[in-house]
Amino acid sequence: MSDTPQRLSWKSYALKLAIVASERSEDSFMKVGACLLRHDNSVAGLGYNGAPSGIELNWENRDHRRVRVVHAEVNALRYTNPGECYLLACSHIPCNDCMKTIAAYGIKEVVFNDVYVRDMSSFDIAREFGIKLFATSNVASQVSVENKNKFELIDFQ
Ligand SMILES: [Zn+2]
Repeated sequence: MSDTPQRLSWKSYALKLAIVASERSEDSFMKVGACLLRHDNSVAGLGYNGAPSGIELNWENRDHRRVRVVHAEVNALRYTNPGECYLLACSHIPCNDCMKTIAAYGIKEVVFNDVYVRDMSSFDIAREFGIKLFATSNVASQVSVENKNKFELIDFQ
């Protein structure tokens, strides 16, 4: 055994930062965070789900806020340019709309730690768009055998 703690991989590093960012969310139903890495692994942006700047939302009404909230991935992408980043880490798998936007920014790798159990369609959208998915054992425990074949498992504590 070495005394040196195991060094975080870049994927785990970005995912941990995304989870920290999620703690800034005002949304009591769903806190989501995202982190973007440039090609040199520097952090290009962090984001969490929230109201557009200067807009007040009714956070108590889930249906009201659902159609008005800006997703964490979009809030993180605001700080970057297309082609600048290769990886997006998100606390949760991006929804279909975010997956399209991620593809439009030229991002080829997405890492996540949780899924929306009611909608697993993002696994297939990612594959169609040539985005490679990486997920934690937390995801593996929540998805069907079929969907387990659609991502690579990362070591994440
Ligand atoms: Zn989304």
